[in-house]
Amino acid sequence: MDELKLDLRDFHRIVFFTGAGLSAESGIPTYRGHGGVWAEYNYEDFACQQAFLRDPEKVWDFHDKRRAKVAACEPNAGHRAIAEVQRTKPETVIITQNIDGLHQRAGATNVIELHGSLWRVRCEDEDLVVPNDQVPIEPRRCTCGAYWRPDIVWFGDMLDPGNIERAIRALQKCDLLISVGTSGVVYPAADLPRIAMESGATTIEINLEDTRVSRLYQHRIRHAASAALAALTETPIC
Ligand code: NAD
Repeated sequence: MDELKLDLRDFHRIVFFTGAGLSAESGIPTYRGHGGVWAEYNYEDFACQQAFLRDPEKVWDFHDKRRAKVAACEPNAGHRAIAEVQRTKPETVIITQNIDGLHQRAGATNVIELHGSLWRVRCEDEDLVVPNDQVPIEPRRCTCGAYWRPDIVWFGDMLDPGNIERAIRALQKCDLLISVGTSGVVYPAADLPRIAMESGATTIEINLEDTRVSRLYQHRIRHAASAALAALTETPIC
């Protein structure tokens, strides 16, 4: 990291592309690797539409637990550093695969949540999406009688095309892409950073280890996200 002398004042349209590794230091487990959620739970029983149709109560029990876990966690220095860059450079866009809402709790605003949010629910019968931060959620049904479902992208779900479009536009325009704590294995999100690379942006990957997309990045920082982001952004940025 010492060798990477990057002055954020040289960049005007920054995109942060973030994944579960950013929130790991807040105490939220990643999905893969040691301690990962899918080492303990089978996603086919808890995180896909078929599971929800089979047993909505069981799926909600799982998501209530996830909500309780996330509600007890705080944004870390990495989330705060990103929000601070955005405060100084309002064109900064955050594209996240995380569903935890920690970017917003750290003060960030322009956040594209590719995989939805734990803090919204959706009534599919009425095509209605509303914020909801109850833990546990009560009642689990909308007034129309249908179950609420978490407004998150489960295995097998499509991503919101509007979100993908916004992400693509931001990546096409950006001059600096900083990818943080993502394994690059969940598609189609994993392929998005390639757009910034092909558009000629400077690209940085922050991760504890190499990923299957590491070779695409010009700079690779092998540090914990919070320390790396704090160091990267400690130079004056206005
Ligand atoms: P992932 O679990 O596949 O990979 C996490 C990556 O973060 C790994 O490459 C790991 O090496 C790295 N990492 C772990 N700790 C780190 C740290 N302290 N600093 C830097 N890097 C660190 O996560 P993903 O790529 O985001 O994709 C998984 C999917 O999981 C996403 O769709 C996301 O919706 C979902 N998810 C979200 C949350 C959350 O909202 N916090 C948590 C778990 C999973």
